[in-house]
Amino acid sequence: MPNQPDVMEKLVSLSKRRGFIFQSSEIYGGTGSVWDYGPLGVELKRNLQERWWKAMVRSRSDIEGLDSAILMHPRVWEASGHVGGFVDPLVDCRNCKKRFRADDPRIKGTPGTPEAQCPACGMKGTLGEARQFNLMFKTFMGPAEDTASVVYLRPETAQGTYVNFLNVQQSTRQRVPFGIAQIGKAFRNEITPGNFIFRTREFEQMEMQFFVEPGTDMTWFEYWKEERMKWHRGLGLAEDRLQFHEHTADELAHYARAAFDVQFDFGGSLGFQEIEGIHNRGDFDLTQHQKFSGKKLEYFDQGANKRFVPFVVETAVGPNRTLLAILVNGYREENVEGESEGRVVLGLIPSLAPIKAGVFPLVKKDGMPEMAKKIADDLRQSFSVFYDDSGAIGRRYRRQDEVGTPFCITVDGESAAANSVTVRDRDTLKQERIGIDTLREYIGSRIAG
Ligand SMILES: [Zn+2]
Repeated sequence: MPNQPDVMEKLVSLSKRRGFIFQSSEIYGGTGSVWDYGPLGVELKRNLQERWWKAMVRSRSDIEGLDSAILMHPRVWEASGHVGGFVDPLVDCRNCKKRFRADDPRIKGTPGTPEAQCPACGMKGTLGEARQFNLMFKTFMGPAEDTASVVYLRPETAQGTYVNFLNVQQSTRQRVPFGIAQIGKAFRNEITPGNFIFRTREFEQMEMQFFVEPGTDMTWFEYWKEERMKWHRGLGLAEDRLQFHEHTADELAHYARAAFDVQFDFGGSLGFQEIEGIHNRGDFDLTQHQKFSGKKLEYFDQGANKRFVPFVVETAVGPNRTLLAILVNGYREENVEGESEGRVVLGLIPSLAPIKAGVFPLVKKDGMPEMAKKIADDLRQSFSVFYDDSGAIGRRYRRQDEVGTPFCITVDGESAAANSVTVRDRDTLKQERIGIDTLREYIGSRIAG
């Protein structure tokens, strides 16, 4: 197995310095494992989400989009098993107030007994007995804060899709097999979050539930497995950093018929980790919601004149994790021939890059800034560009390399007379002279796909 370098610390620093990702509420000392996306981060995340939406919804006739609410009827989470089953046993230390998973290997002795030793403060006999801890965030709906008004922040978007199965099917007149996709926030009160934006308490999901006739589910499962791996490769993630991980009998959820993770090698000690799950969930979800709601969630197949509860093949991507994978995959430090200073490059594919082109005047005189500003304003109508006239041209190139900008456009001494500019490619460092009139078309064609 190739051992990829650990670039996480460098990325955390670059992300803050250049405005990709900030710690939440930083001026108050930060909120644990919650992150904010800055000007460049939000562009990158949107580009990623739009790419998924295009591949999964817009370009297909057999998948519909949905945006269901974060707050749902509390019975949904009883039906899904999250109220009863979504729990981790935890142990608290009375002395240092730290909290640990009951299976933390650093705990010596059995929690709740005098011999048990706290792994943080080292005291003996201060660890309480293991208690069940639900991973769902709870809040109250309405003015009364009592048990009758408890609602949850959803721990996944999928349930919003299941309860809308018939609404979507009937309003769109889709026929099984078809899918419903959505992008949205989800919340889990994780006990051991961490690794930057890899595991956070507030996160996003891009989930698609594909409803199929029972008996055809494994064929569709195989289809989606391959399709989803292709999609990740299309993001530019290196072939040798991607792999499938098949869930063993121990790892499989009790209702799941089959499950594969798409894993990415994040390097260092993190190594290969899940960025997407592909699951054959059978009829578990729809059957549970039928039982708990008392409403039928059957599909009527007119051709065959029969009713059935469809099976579900789910594809569930973590966009935040995938974004981290894209940053890790793209980060490189390299020497440049003929220059003493090296450069940092984010090798993002052009369609994901937050800025598509930097626009510079070579020097701040002879009408070059005015001309460059006009070019930037024109191009800005079609894609994101960044105008920069401060510092040596080499530094301006480096600043764009570091945030993954694929092209740098420079107005130079020839530009006014020749009505042309130079366009520098981030990866090859080659410069081409391009007519100003064809610039939009030139950049546009190279950032597509
Ligand atoms: Zn302690």
